[in-house]
Amino acid sequence: MKIVHDIKSLREFLQDKKNIGLVPTMGYLHEGHLSLVNEAKKISEHVVMSIFVNPLQFGPNEDFDRYPRDFDRDCQMAQDAGADVVFAPSVSEMYPDKSFTTVHVSSVTERLCGASRPGHFDGVATVVSKLFHIVQPTYAFFGLKDAQQVAVIQQMVNDLNFPVKIIPCPIIREKDGLALSSRNVYLSPEEREQALVLSQSLKEARRFIEEGERDIRAVINHIRSLIGSKPLAEIEYVEVLSYPSLQTLKRLEGRFIIALAVKFGKTRLIDNLIMSLQEVS
Ligand code: AMP
Repeated sequence: MKIVHDIKSLREFLQDKKNIGLVPTMGYLHEGHLSLVNEAKKISEHVVMSIFVNPLQFGPNEDFDRYPRDFDRDCQMAQDAGADVVFAPSVSEMYPDKSFTTVHVSSVTERLCGASRPGHFDGVATVVSKLFHIVQPTYAFFGLKDAQQVAVIQQMVNDLNFPVKIIPCPIIREKDGLALSSRNVYLSPEEREQALVLSQSLKEARRFIEEGERDIRAVINHIRSLIGSKPLAEIEYVEVLSYPSLQTLKRLEGRFIIALAVKFGKTRLIDNLIMSLQEVS
């Protein structure tokens, strides 16, 4: 597996390559990231994984400095999973001069993490645009763990005619249901135990809806009371919106997302469930 740190060398290496699959990550890899490489290998000839903790998408009081990093371990895992290239630029390689261009996607960024992390999706859309221009992939693979991110990137690709096909991939979970995340390492054993309430409450919500519940308030209240029963959990949001447009719904209909963000101490976890009423009726 090739490891490249600068844009020029990556471009030279990829110059004559076709059918490239890009897997953008911030590193500290886990099975969730590796599942994207797996999906990429199925349909791409060359799999490029980028590893870049993008300062632009972190707010001033967020965890950019303490975000977990282990580059050697990441490279070993990426290689074992079958990636062909790891592209790991420094911050100064990606942002050498003051930049005056930001990609801003409106509407789908207004709710959920877009509301609670101002500027976050500008940072995401801007860095992903740069990666698309640098790598020029045929496909790009994103996890539905970050379902709003998938909606934002798909909207950007549609609006700006990027010649790339976005492939959304399913959420990978621990055996007990906790969605894999690089941030799970921050959790104390007690927090880790209580964090199970995220996936459990989504499961409960699904059951509720399968049994005929159509009132969004009732679904949200049910989830809120389950999460509220965990003393270390602090709810940031519990929302039910249309997916992928992420608009308010009066009643459950069509395809929708139940999305959660919950803090345990300083650790912010997200999880979601996307479903449609056709599945249950
Ligand atoms: P990150 O390194 O957190 O920026 O994530 C890089 C990519 O991996 C994003 O597309 C995420 O949605 C995806 N990802 C992270 N965790 C998971 C997971 N548990 N299951 C599936 N994809 C994931």
